[in-house]
Amino acid sequence: MPTAGRWKFVSRAGAPMSKSLADRVRPSLRGRPAYSVPKPKGIRAKLDANELAYALPVNLAVELGRELATVELNRYPDAEATELRRLIADDLGVPGESLSFGNGSDEIIHLLCAAFAGEGGVSVLYPTPSFSVFRVAAHAAGSEPVEVPLTAELLLDAQGLEAAAAASNPAVAFFARPNNPTGTLWSRQLILDFAANHPATLVVSDEAYIDYGGDSLIDACAGLENLAIMRTLSKVGLAALRVGYVHARPLVIAALESIRPPYNLSSLNQFAAVWMLTHHRSLMNAWTAEVRSERTRVATELAANEGIHVFESAANLIMFRVGKAGDGRADALWHSLIERGVLIRNFDSPGPLSGCLRVTIGSPAENDLFLSAVGELLAA
Ligand code: PMP
Repeated sequence: MPTAGRWKFVSRAGAPMSKSLADRVRPSLRGRPAYSVPKPKGIRAKLDANELAYALPVNLAVELGRELATVELNRYPDAEATELRRLIADDLGVPGESLSFGNGSDEIIHLLCAAFAGEGGVSVLYPTPSFSVFRVAAHAAGSEPVEVPLTAELLLDAQGLEAAAAASNPAVAFFARPNNPTGTLWSRQLILDFAANHPATLVVSDEAYIDYGGDSLIDACAGLENLAIMRTLSKVGLAALRVGYVHARPLVIAALESIRPPYNLSSLNQFAAVWMLTHHRSLMNAWTAEVRSERTRVATELAANEGIHVFESAANLIMFRVGKAGDGRADALWHSLIERGVLIRNFDSPGPLSGCLRVTIGSPAENDLFLSAVGELLAA
C-alpha cells in the first residue's frame, strides 16, 4: 500500500498547468453546441426526426405492458443481449459473435471512433452533408473529422474521397446508405472500391434506412475484412428502444467489446425488441411498405409546387429546396409550417443545403396536412 509520504506530484516537463475547470474541457470540444431538438407547442404532424409515424395499436401495447411487467428490474440487463443477438444474427445470416450492440447506432458510432480513431491526428472520414453524429463522435474521440463534400447532385465524389483519404489515411470512414439528410442512395461499387483501396481503414456502411431502399453491402463483407455493416431498429417503429448493432470481423468486434459499457441495452428495451421481432414483424413490414408508397406520393405532390425542387430519396425522408439558395424562402416556410402544426427539419443555412428542408414521411393524414400547408403557404 502506498503511503501519503510516498506520493509525488509532478508535472510532465512543459505540460501546461490547468488553472480552472474550464481549462480541463478538451480544447476541441470547447464551445461546441449540444444536439438540439426543437419542441414547439401545438405540433400535429411531427415530421422532423425520421421516425416511423405508427404507434403500436392499443391492444398490442397493453399486451406488451403485461409482458414487460415480468422483467426483473432489480437485476442488471443481459450484457450479451443473448436473445436479441440470436434473432438479429438469424435475420442477417451471420454468426452471433460477429455482432456488437449499442444504445442506438449513435452509440456504435461513438464506440467505433473511440476504438479506432483518437488523438494525434488520426482521422475519421465521411462525405458531407451526412449524419451529424459522425462529426460529434470524431470530436468526442479527439480525432480529426475529414469531411468530403458531395457533388451538386448530392452524390459521392470519387476523386474527392480518394484525395482526402490519401492525405489523411483515415482510421474509420462512414458511408450512410441511404444517406441522411439527403435520402440519396450512393453507389455501392464506389464504396466497395474505396474499402478495397484502403484496407487499413475501417469502412462502415451505415444502413439505418435500408428498409426504405437500396441493397445492403453485407454480402461483400466476406471478401473485405475492413467492411462493417451498421443497422438500427429506430427507423422501423422502435426508436424509443435505442437498439443499434454492427456486424464486423472479430478484431473489430473485440475492440468494440473491450470498451462497450456492459449493460448498455436496458432489460426493458431488449425485451420489447425481442417481443416485436418475434411476434409482430409482419406489422413492422406493413408499416415500412406504407411509408415507401407514401414517399412516392409526397415526392410527386411536393414537386408539383412551383419553386420546389425535390431530391430523389431511398429513405423515409425527402430533402427539398425551396426557391433559390440564400433567398430565405425555405426558412420562412419552415416557420410558417410550425404555425400550422407541422414540424419538419430546417437545413436552410449557408452551405450546400442552403434553401433546403427535410420532411420525414409520416402517416397519410400527416402527409396530407404537410402537403396542403405547403401548397397554401407557397400560393399565398
Ligand atoms: N445513422 C443514420 C444515417 C441516422 O440518420 C441515424 C438517426 N437519425 C442514426 C444512424 C442513429 O440511429 P439510432 O441511434 O437511433 O440507432
